[in-house]
Amino acid sequence: MRRLFIAGNWKMNLTRAQAVALVEGLVGKIGSVSAVDLAVCPPFVYLEAVGAAAAGSAIKVGAQNMYFEPAGAFTGEVAAAMLADVGCTYVVLGHSERRHVFGETDELIDKKVRVALDLGLKVILCVGELLEEREAGQTETVVGRQVEAGLAGVSAEGLGQVTIAYEPVWAIGTGRTATREQASAVHGFIRQVVGGLYGPEAAHSLTIQYGGSVKPENAGDLLSDQEIDGALVGGASLKVESFSAIVGAGVKVAGGQ
Ligand code: PEP
Repeated sequence: MRRLFIAGNWKMNLTRAQAVALVEGLVGKIGSVSAVDLAVCPPFVYLEAVGAAAAGSAIKVGAQNMYFEPAGAFTGEVAAAMLADVGCTYVVLGHSERRHVFGETDELIDKKVRVALDLGLKVILCVGELLEEREAGQTETVVGRQVEAGLAGVSAEGLGQVTIAYEPVWAIGTGRTATREQASAVHGFIRQVVGGLYGPEAAHSLTIQYGGSVKPENAGDLLSDQEIDGALVGGASLKVESFSAIVGAGVKVAGGQ
């Protein structure tokens, strides 16, 4: 039985005081939840402060990106070891904004995935098609390529530390959510691709989050689908009330507290 995993991607938002207030509010509301796994991913500069405020709660901290080189002349970049050093449990890699705003390639993302895993970070690997790709019937081609490329060179043991987030680009920050059926079909396809690479047991154990305009109003429906093992939440993770309500929907689906 896979556990639901709900993570908030705060993107490039909030002041330090707001970030700490947000995590403190979440700790108060959902910090003792045990039925689902939880994480928040603040900007790099707030990782330590947010981690300190979340310490001892069920809320783990993740970064939104990293670079694959261990150290050196890479101005503006942050290494995986630095993330581990400040207490990160997770790192989000291959987010569509990294792919489409910053031009990250499958090859670059794969290098980051392998280095993150080597250094003990758990990876949330994001994949998803553009609207024109969906309309051209290329969803499976694109998502299959991103999954295969992002996992290239990753061992079966490494895969155990990877969550895949299916985030159709047309649903991110647009208010346009994929229907449960659309998300479920792609999740099933991703599981099939991973099954082809690592075998059916590994595919069955893999956590696949859905991301793209997840809100309190649609979370219960999405999370109750057998194929959907959690959510990567952008906009709605920036408010205690909305993120807690999404977590509450997950807890209800999981039948726990
Ligand atoms: C995201 O940034 O990963 C995301 C899914 O954003 P939103 O929930 O705002 O669509």
